[in-house]
Amino acid sequence: MGVKLKKTTNPSSELGLLRRIRHLASGGSRRGGVRLGIGDDCAILRVQSNEEIAITTDLSLDGRHFRLGWHPPECVGHRALARGLSDLAAMGARPLAAFLSLGLPGDLTSSSGRAPWIERFYKGFLALADAQKTPLAGGDLAESPLALADVVLVGAVPKGRALLRSTARPGDALYVTGWLGGASAALLELTAIAAKQPESTRTLRIPLTASPRLRPHLYPQPRISQGLWLRRRQMASAAIDISDGLSTDLAHLCDESGVAAELDTAALPLAPGATLDQALHGGEDYELLFTTKASKRLPKSIAGVPITRIGRIVRRRPGSPQILFSGPRGREPLEPHGWEHFSLK
Ligand SMILES: [Mg+2]
Repeated sequence: MGVKLKKTTNPSSELGLLRRIRHLASGGSRRGGVRLGIGDDCAILRVQSNEEIAITTDLSLDGRHFRLGWHPPECVGHRALARGLSDLAAMGARPLAAFLSLGLPGDLTSSSGRAPWIERFYKGFLALADAQKTPLAGGDLAESPLALADVVLVGAVPKGRALLRSTARPGDALYVTGWLGGASAALLELTAIAAKQPESTRTLRIPLTASPRLRPHLYPQPRISQGLWLRRRQMASAAIDISDGLSTDLAHLCDESGVAAELDTAALPLAPGATLDQALHGGEDYELLFTTKASKRLPKSIAGVPITRIGRIVRRRPGSPQILFSGPRGREPLEPHGWEHFSLK
């Protein structure tokens, strides 16, 4: 699985493009588990004899997970990779390699004096890949009427030691890394910025003053170091990443573990500018939600990111709500509100 190109119209310029992509990819981290990367028919990954392989795949579509007119290409690349890395983080897996297949309209791969969209996409993708020691080891590229990125992440974890969703038990404490609701609040602000600019504007102009607040949406940070820390020290009894919102992902964890949960609303670490509703139901925060045995003592932060105790796991009782949260009106059932990614609705 080298970088291949299909359905092309101008072989010479595309060869040049492939060379540039390969050059960009080779400049990044050589760590991870790649023995043989881009350039042959397959990549060859190296794992230790006591390890198992963790694999996750994520598809990002224009109009669904990003908008070509709204998101800078670097951000689309970063986000496409962040989704998969966050899944590896949730399992406590060490990234070995990433594989990226792109389907792009022709104008995104051609250059008219400036760097084409695809090169800026790779810059964003590879900057995060390098920061997380995840080499790009192969992929595919084809012309497509719809812009899409399909990312496969391969990770390694010692046999039988992956963090799972299904192993939380009554009495466990419930924790979250970082902050909640920031991505959702930022998406709302981005939507407001777009509404003020004419429909004909091809590329959204983002005011400089807004960009720090938009970062949780544009450049979310997957919690690889925190997942590795939890797994290596055997601190987590179960874990999941918050990609669809706390209420939905906590319900997934409870379903898989056959338990219920109580949330302390006042304890939720709201991101600056985020509402309680966004913290409970907003998607794409890519924080880790994890449980620990009550006897474990956790630090205030893990690898530089604060962690917060937000509730507890309790026994599941027939007829009782799966998630209770203590809010201003006392204890109430919390319904999961599934989050539809970047919906066009
Ligand atoms: Mg996940």
